[in-house]
Amino acid sequence: MARPLIADIDLDALRHNYCLARDLAPHSRALAVLKANAYGHGAVPCAQALSDLAPAFAVASLEEACVLREAGIETPIVLLEGIFEARELEVVDAMGLWTVVHSDWQLEAHLAYRPQRPIPTWVKVDSGMHRLGFDPHRAEQVWERLAAAPDRVTDLHLMSHFATADALDPSYFRHQLAVMDELAERLKAPTCLANSPATLAWPQAHGAWNRPGVMLYGSNPLEGADNVSRGLEPVMTLRSELIAVRDLAAGEPVGYAGRWKAPRPSRIGVVACGYGDGYDRHAVDGTPVLVNGQRTTIAGKVSMDMLTVDLTDIPDARIGSSVVLWGRAESGECLSVDEVARHCDTISYTLLTGVLPRVPRRYH
Ligand code: PLP
Repeated sequence: MARPLIADIDLDALRHNYCLARDLAPHSRALAVLKANAYGHGAVPCAQALSDLAPAFAVASLEEACVLREAGIETPIVLLEGIFEARELEVVDAMGLWTVVHSDWQLEAHLAYRPQRPIPTWVKVDSGMHRLGFDPHRAEQVWERLAAAPDRVTDLHLMSHFATADALDPSYFRHQLAVMDELAERLKAPTCLANSPATLAWPQAHGAWNRPGVMLYGSNPLEGADNVSRGLEPVMTLRSELIAVRDLAAGEPVGYAGRWKAPRPSRIGVVACGYGDGYDRHAVDGTPVLVNGQRTTIAGKVSMDMLTVDLTDIPDARIGSSVVLWGRAESGECLSVDEVARHCDTISYTLLTGVLPRVPRRYH
């Protein structure tokens, strides 16, 4: 019998979440961010599921774009960080990809390369994230040089990324938006600014294009928010089963370092999922899980191949009972990956992208 651990991927939920992102911004086009193997969900099946809805996809590298093209995906694909070497432009050109220019060397490479067709190119501006991009003054010069080379590049847009669109304090977000509004106004340029939190919460930031990522997979990154209220559906359900059950006397410890000690006579379940599958080892006692659709908690440190849960209040739990680490139980009960992430002192992005290849993906 196979080890009972699987990541169920609900492609209808992905389509639903995409439509939600699209409908929140009726004057924008929403490209679907499929980088990091579609945040761990499988880039090709996700692209296939969205190909009649999304007018473009975005990935982090040429390799990720090639995977989609080789699978027959013909939708435009934006390389969010542009090229990493000048010679990649040949492939960008041959595959009809769209690209981003954030550095002087990329600018010079684009201006030196004569493509078969001008390459759709977005100019990345550092409006305050201080990661990639030209400062606004330099961006203006870059824009003008690219605009003067219509045989090399076409369909120019300004792009920027927000550092704090998910935060409760809007001040820095407003500063970045003001920087971009001013620049876009001066250049009369179309923009692509909004990630998921800005798509969800900041219509002022919606541009010609938006770039929702994690919300497509059912996670709401807004600080202090829950995803149910936004109508987002979980796409991945990480599903396992109890493979052992034992009774413990009060005071008995469980797992490595005996971190959890039974506060009363307790029943413990062992689940076939551990950090060797990508489940976060930082999960504290009290991290929620669903057993037979009922909420209970992790009891003891996560091991490589197993974790342990408190079954004391779920008397019908037995070997083979279903366990949902995040996602939707058969009963319909949901456990959001955001809630699990908070107990691991991390974010949904790391949990979703962290599900390792040994966990089979099953598509619906
Ligand atoms: N745009 C860029 C440049 C990104 O790096 C990311 C994600 O990291 C996204 C868009 C999507 O962000 P989110 O997943 O928060 O929607």
